[in-house]
Amino acid sequence: MPLAPSFQMLPVALQELFLLCFEVGHGNPAARPTADVWSKALGVAEDGLVRCGVNGQHYYSGHLGVCPWCERAAKLGGRDPFPALGGISSGQHLKPAAIGKSTSKKSPIKITTPKLKPKTTPTKSTKSTANSRMKCNGF
Ligand SMILES: [Zn+2]
Repeated sequence: MPLAPSFQMLPVALQELFLLCFEVGHGNPAARPTADVWSKALGVAEDGLVRCGVNGQHYYSGHLGVCPWCERAAKLGGRDPFPALGGISSGQHLKPAAIGKSTSKKSPIKITTPKLKPKTTPTKSTKSTANSRMKCNGF
């Protein structure tokens, strides 16, 4: 997902907790960080947030060199998930994104649309569907 926020946007301490929780802890629940550990790490991460100099609605982890929300908005043709207050009052956030309307040749915005696969007849057996459900419900 090229437009999804990257894992690296998270402070390193939170990245480590996520890996402990969902990779190591997937098969070893005792390895998962406790709620107290999460709470403290989130507090430290919050203290380390930096306010964007371009859009005061953007906050990001101080370990990043640039605002990832500004970068993302540029990739989305100006559509900002956290629009500046001035943009909200002028209704800018309600206008269509400028995707494909850019005339700048220095930084063209290239959005690719995934090709849809033709529909095929499901080939899964009832048994594999039941197993999938069990995995989803089993956590
Ligand atoms: Zn920003």
